[in-house]
Amino acid sequence: MRGGMGAITAELVRCAEERGVTLRTATPVRRVVIADGVAVGVELADGTVAPHDIVISNADPVTTCRYLIGDHPLMADYQAVLASYDPATWYAPTKIALALDRLPAFAIDEPLAQQHIGGLFICPSPAAQAAAFAAAKAGRLPNPNMIALMTPTTTDPTLAPPGKHLMCLYVRCTPLTCDGAPWDASNEHFLYEDALDQLSAYLPDLRACIRAQHLISPTTLQREYGLATGEIMHLPLETPWLFDQRPVPGYSDYTTPIAQLFLCGAGTHPGGTVTGAPGHNCAQRIIAEFA
Ligand SMILES: Cc1cc2nc3c(=O)[nH]c(=O)nc-3n(C[C@H](O)[C@H](O)[C@H](O)COP(=O)(O)OP(=O)(O)OC[C@H]3O[C@@H](n4cnc5c(N)ncnc54)[C@H](O)[C@@H]3O)c2cc1C
Repeated sequence: MRGGMGAITAELVRCAEERGVTLRTATPVRRVVIADGVAVGVELADGTVAPHDIVISNADPVTTCRYLIGDHPLMADYQAVLASYDPATWYAPTKIALALDRLPAFAIDEPLAQQHIGGLFICPSPAAQAAAFAAAKAGRLPNPNMIALMTPTTTDPTLAPPGKHLMCLYVRCTPLTCDGAPWDASNEHFLYEDALDQLSAYLPDLRACIRAQHLISPTTLQREYGLATGEIMHLPLETPWLFDQRPVPGYSDYTTPIAQLFLCGAGTHPGGTVTGAPGHNCAQRIIAEFA
């Protein structure tokens, strides 16, 4: 696929508009309007109320329930399950995007570029990997960490100016909060420097190739991307948040205790990554009931 993830979104927009869908972006939803236990529309941040027969949310379940519904007697048990999600005990990847003036060479005697195609996972040992997971789950920044590494410009040069490259690092084991507090600049600095130090054993001239960098921590996801959980998969892809327990036992069929309100995002079964599966399954559930 050319054009990065944005190309998928652009194509979805094109398909939707071709079928007469009205899309509104940059207008957050303030709340789901509920009457007698039935979702009847949404109220936007600008005060506009949009009535709808069905409301489907792909915001993460915590955002939908805590902020878009709030206290509602029908939601009490559902909310209680989600309240057991404790960010202090979960971990998620942190992404670092590197704009490179040139491809760094690997510390091996092989032609440049082949090693950059595809994804690489780098971690000193299985024991170090286990220690990194444990530290992140305890709210600490691990050192060393497990780093996934991709250079998408080696297969899609359109993502950078001619001759330049984009390298994406996913530092796999990072806590949602650092020692119980949101990430701050010193946490980001530590993680960035540590990741580059670790990679320099494999890519000795990486630092010299970097023109700019951008780091997205779990706190960035909460503050700038509207993911209340700070988790790229909305809820962990681990027990007790899997299969018929996702997002809440009894509601893995995309319904909620509010009639006509459905969830279709990564927090529902089978979870995140760019598969479209939760949305597809949710659509089938709605078609089965209303078509
Ligand atoms: C840094 C990063 C790297 C990733 N890397 C990969 C990868 O390499 N491969 C892969 O397959 N997956 C990857 N993922 C995961 C993948 O992006 C997600 O699983 C997928 O985007 C989930 O799609 P979604 O539509 O369910 O939710 P999201 O894409 O999270 O969309 C939820 C949307 O709801 C919006 N929202 C929240 N509140 C409101 C409101 N009140 N009003 C209106 N909108 C609201 C949010 O702004 C957000 O746009 C990555 C995610 C991140 C963050």
